[in-house]
Amino acid sequence: MKMPDLNLETLEKRPEIIKALRKIIPEENFGDNIIEDEDGLKVYECDGLSAYCQLPMLVVLPETTEQVSQTLKYCSDNDIKVVARGSGTSLSGGALPLADAVLLGLGKFNKIIDIDYNNRTVVAQPGVTNLSITEAVMHNNFYYAPDPSSQIACSIGGNVAENSGGVHCLKYGLTTNNILGIEMVLMNGDIITLGGKYLDAGGYDFLGILAGSEGLLGVITEVTVRILRKPDLARAMLIGFDDIVAAGDCVASIIGAGIIPGGMEMMDKLAIKAAEDFIQAGYPLDVEALLIVELDGPKSEIDYLINIVEDISKDHGAGYIRISNNDSEREIFWAGRKAAFPAVGRITPDYYCMDGTIPRSKLPEVLKSMNEMSEKYDLRVANVFHAGDGNLHPLIMYDANKEGELKRAEDFGSEILKLCVEVGGVLTGEHGVGVEKRDLMSTMFTEEDLKQQQRVKCAFDPEGLLNPGKVFPTLHRCSELGRVHVHQGKTRFPDIPHF
Ligand SMILES: Cc1cc2nc3c(=O)[nH]c(=O)nc-3n(C[C@H](O)[C@H](O)[C@H](O)COP(=O)(O)OP(=O)(O)OC[C@H]3O[C@@H](n4cnc5c(N)ncnc54)[C@H](O)[C@@H]3O)c2cc1C
Repeated sequence: MKMPDLNLETLEKRPEIIKALRKIIPEENFGDNIIEDEDGLKVYECDGLSAYCQLPMLVVLPETTEQVSQTLKYCSDNDIKVVARGSGTSLSGGALPLADAVLLGLGKFNKIIDIDYNNRTVVAQPGVTNLSITEAVMHNNFYYAPDPSSQIACSIGGNVAENSGGVHCLKYGLTTNNILGIEMVLMNGDIITLGGKYLDAGGYDFLGILAGSEGLLGVITEVTVRILRKPDLARAMLIGFDDIVAAGDCVASIIGAGIIPGGMEMMDKLAIKAAEDFIQAGYPLDVEALLIVELDGPKSEIDYLINIVEDISKDHGAGYIRISNNDSEREIFWAGRKAAFPAVGRITPDYYCMDGTIPRSKLPEVLKSMNEMSEKYDLRVANVFHAGDGNLHPLIMYDANKEGELKRAEDFGSEILKLCVEVGGVLTGEHGVGVEKRDLMSTMFTEEDLKQQQRVKCAFDPEGLLNPGKVFPTLHRCSELGRVHVHQGKTRFPDIPHF
């Protein structure tokens, strides 16, 4: 994979850079906030896409927005690349370090700043984990809806940067639908705020642009999220089928009947077995496909909807139906699904988690093709889907120690993603583009589309110093893309206004 050319001047100036950053980020009693030794740097050499590793030039762990601002300004003035990192769980290599870049870790931004039940908002620093937000408000019967399976570890800043989803996003929306405000530092050190504790910030939808911007536009230092009142009741159903295509049709019929479940997930036989062996969630092992359908709301509505979903499932040939009787049983049903990735990790030396989205109606066709590809590449694949959203997560199993297997797994993955685009879907559902899908972007976008997207990047980061080598297959110089900057001694875009 081609990464941006190394800036040798930056590497030569490393000791000088460390000295300058030490003045910005002071040493604390409990340890150094600048990591420069090889053992320390190794901790950061990859993210969740562990097939790719690279030691960063150095790691800085700022603790205040002012420190982030000064760090970025120093790097901007000295032409130094910067890669932001939350918890490093990205599955697309978004947080993969660069050899000549500062890795800016947000792990010390770990405080919840404000909980406001009247406005139904939480303001959190970007390093706060997704689950901690719900944990902070659950005693008052509130929660934060987007729930990636990695929620115990991933950060809210990373969630915004990847526009992350989760099993409850079918009904409650992705991260982009649940954030109200952001504080962010631009590469030139300017601190901007967008939105706040209210709906619909004025002007252009900059929050929409930042959700999913993969660390290419700025470093997020504060996030205001919407919290929701917990539904009166939630019940989950396990529905087993002998045929995965019938399970896919059942999903379409449930949605077609006007029901939007709180969550609707599907697993194939291999994924069911791996999850059951790991978690003992009580999944049936003699079915080809398992649906987990959660219905939430007032009790009378749930009782009514459960009956309808049961009828629809039986019409589609479901041979196994089990309904949770209490919250702990419901949570166990979900625990198996949420642990499906690590569960598959137990049965194979390595796995490659793909993330494409297709129109739901194309599921049978895509599944059939994936089985053929599995034979062609001679690699097993376990399937976990956000079925309601048409978001696929094929987990391709391989052994990196066997000559050529990683390459076969990557080729298999590319073929799946190209198929997703061919059938009218998209390259990514929630894991982002990063380095993983970067070179496939042109299967979905024309050259002019990609240039237009880069003009947005130029408006925020005219020197292309933030997370280069990610998302765009070719990073054009901003000057090649039209009149988007002015000369002020140093080439700069006019200041982004403060909102
Ligand atoms: C087992 C497992 C299960 C997963 N399940 C899901 C799932 O169900 N749904 C889902 O959507 N994802 C899932 N993921 C992927 C991953 O957890 C998400 O993409 C998550 O949002 C990444 O957050 P992070 O804090 O780890 O970010 P990182 O991996 O550290 O960074 C991800 C990207 O965000 C940028 N970034 C991070 N913090 C900031 C910041 N403060 N400012 C600007 N840019 C920043 C980085 O530069 C990088 O491009 C899963 C991952 C694993 C390992």
